[in-house]
Amino acid sequence: METGKIALVTGAGKGIGAACAKKLAAMGHTVIINYNGSKAAAEETAAQIASAGGKAYTMQCDVSDPEAVSAMVETIQKEYGAVEILVNNAGITRDELMLRMKPEDFDAVIRTNLTAVFYVMQACIRGMIKKRKGKIVNISSVSGVIGNAGQANYSAAKAGVIGMTKTAARELAGRNITVNAVAPGFITTDMTNALPDAAKEGILSKVPMGRGGKPEDVANAVAFLCSEESDYITGQVLCVDGGMAM
Ligand code: NAP
Repeated sequence: METGKIALVTGAGKGIGAACAKKLAAMGHTVIINYNGSKAAAEETAAQIASAGGKAYTMQCDVSDPEAVSAMVETIQKEYGAVEILVNNAGITRDELMLRMKPEDFDAVIRTNLTAVFYVMQACIRGMIKKRKGKIVNISSVSGVIGNAGQANYSAAKAGVIGMTKTAARELAGRNITVNAVAPGFITTDMTNALPDAAKEGILSKVPMGRGGKPEDVANAVAFLCSEESDYITGQVLCVDGGMAM
C-alpha cells in the first residue's frame, strides 16, 4: 500500500470533501482538511479520522483568496512537507435562471469553483515538480459536462475546471504529475439537500440508475485517481453519476 503522502483536500469539513479526506486517510496518507467557515465540521472530520487510526489536520483558508492560498500551502510545506496529493473539492452554488441571475452571483461561483482551483493548483505544483511526483483531482460536475438549467454560473465554472484540468495534465505529464477531474451527478450532501423537492425529483428522473449517490461513491473514484493504480491516466473526466451524463 502507498502510505505517508501529504494530501490536501479543499472544503473537506463535510460532504464529498469529508468523504475524500476519510478515504485518503484510510489509505495511509496524512490529510490536510481545508475549510472556510465550517470549523466545527472540519474538526469533527479530523477527529473521526484520528479515532480510526489515521492522521489529519485542519487548516482554515478561503480558497478564493490567492494570498491566503499561498500562505496555507507554505504552512503545509513547512509543518508537514510538500503536498503530493491535491483534491480541489471546495464549491458553492448560487442557482438562478439566467434571466434573473445577479452578476455578483455569477462572479462568486466562478471565483470559488474555478479561479480558486487555479490558485490552489498553482501553489501546489511547484512542490510536486520538485518531487517529480503528484496527483491532482479536481471536482467538476455533470453540470459542466451536459449543462443544467438554473446553473449558468456553476456549469460555466465546472466546464472551466475540465478545460483547466486538461491543460494542467498536458503541462505536467512530463513531470510525473497526473491531473484528472471527477464529475459527480446528484450526490446527497448539504448542497443538494438545499434544493426544493421538485428540483430533486426533476434531477433524479434523469438518472438512469434512478437514485442519487453518496459522498463515498465520489471518494472511491477520487481515491483511485490519487493512487498508483491510475498512474497512466491523466487529463480525464470520470463521471460518478449513475449514468446521467453518458
Ligand atoms: P457541501 O456539502 O456544500 O460542501 C462544500 C464544501 O466547500 C464545504 O466544505 C465548504 O466549506 C467548502 N467551501 C466553499 N467555499 C469555500 C471557500 N471559499 N474556501 C474553502 N472551502 C470552501 O457540498 P458538496 O456536495 O460536498 O460539494 C463538494 C464539491 O462537489 C463541490 O465542488 C460541488 O460543486 C461538487 N459537486 C457536488 C455535487 C452534489 O450533487 N452534491 C454534484 C456535482 C459536483 P465551508 O463550509 O467551511 O465554507
